[in-house]
Amino acid sequence: MENYLRVRGMHDILPGEVSKWYFIERVLTETVNIYGYKEIRTPIVESRSLFERSIGSESDIVSKEIYAFKDRKGRDIALRPEGTASVVRAFIESGMSTEKRVFRLYYYGPMFRYDRPQKGRYRQFYQFGVELLGGKDPFFDGEVVVMLHTIAKKLKIPKPYFLVNTLGCPQCKERYSGIIKDYFSKKVDHLCNDCKKRITSAPLRILDCKNSGCKKMVSDAPVISDLLCNDCQEHFKKFEEYIKVNNVPYKIDFHLVRGLDYYTRTVFELYVEGEENALAAGGRYDTLVQQLGGPDIPAVGFAIGMERIVNLIEYNTPAKPFFYLACIGEIAKLKGAAIINKLREEGIIIETDYEIESLRAHLKTANKTGARWCIIIGEDEIKKNEMIVKDMLTGKQLDISLDDYINKTKELLKC
Ligand SMILES: [Zn+2]
Ligand SMILES: [Zn+2]
Repeated sequence: MENYLRVRGMHDILPGEVSKWYFIERVLTETVNIYGYKEIRTPIVESRSLFERSIGSESDIVSKEIYAFKDRKGRDIALRPEGTASVVRAFIESGMSTEKRVFRLYYYGPMFRYDRPQKGRYRQFYQFGVELLGGKDPFFDGEVVVMLHTIAKKLKIPKPYFLVNTLGCPQCKERYSGIIKDYFSKKVDHLCNDCKKRITSAPLRILDCKNSGCKKMVSDAPVISDLLCNDCQEHFKKFEEYIKVNNVPYKIDFHLVRGLDYYTRTVFELYVEGEENALAAGGRYDTLVQQLGGPDIPAVGFAIGMERIVNLIEYNTPAKPFFYLACIGEIAKLKGAAIINKLREEGIIIETDYEIESLRAHLKTANKTGARWCIIIGEDEIKKNEMIVKDMLTGKQLDISLDDYINKTKELLKC
């Protein structure tokens, strides 16, 4: 017989871990709801060209890591590697982009990248992200960073801090890109093979290279702050003021660029002390809506890597106490069939095993499941119109009348 295993890079989230995911998901959705965000659900499958156009066809995500294939009609399809492109596509397609107001949207779901699997990094991974569309004021950038900081605090992430930078408007970005190109052109021999190509296709991405040789040269590379236009300087200053007044811990990293083409002006990443990878990242993307065929609408957002958060935080479930039902004999079993569903209708958690015959085996199973109480019904109990409730912690038993068992089991849950 063949053994089936997970496909490389994929992972299961087992029942014991799910409560932690629920907890994080609840903190995320409740927090962004307070800030006025509404959920949007887009498909996992999109046209491949959507990601080429938005993230950039030269980016690692699109050139190396995308899960792309042809469907049965020969359409070029891709599994989404990130959420922003899909949200912007839906924003335009649905007509939301024609309303002249700010939209605050959030999304949650699996993303796919054919990346090298490492601890906490998978080829199917979950992202929670927000997109604020239609706001160009730097205070919007500040607000999303403050919201992300609030999330980090609510999740009790130890010592979170932000790296922030600006990439400038398209004109500043273009100028900076030229300067970076000149700078690295003189050092081309020392660059990794990927970066050699990046010099012509996307010079700014050299600043994001993980190769240690490239990294060294990046630290001496020119910074954008020296050549920003007045508007871009002003934008970054106001953004800083907003996060300062809200006590967000941050450092400026003038070489922070992010690996996606669509960012303009503010970019940021959320870190914790002692961790190499960012927990969340985002920025402003003022040209993307137009680039994807919509009107000229500025936007800013971020995405959180769920697996990173799951690995980082401690969460011990205060499991809800529940009952186990042990019925012995045919008559008791039938009576039990009605009782168990009455209790469930009342919202009381209770389980049983219909195949077990003996009390001993029932009690063993009740123990394994972790039930707090075991309800026992046998022929004697039926005759007396009673049930026995055994406290699995103390071993104490009490008799409860079958005329009043719903209220009595509810009382037990309160103590
Ligand atoms: Zn500018
Ligand atoms: Zn490199």
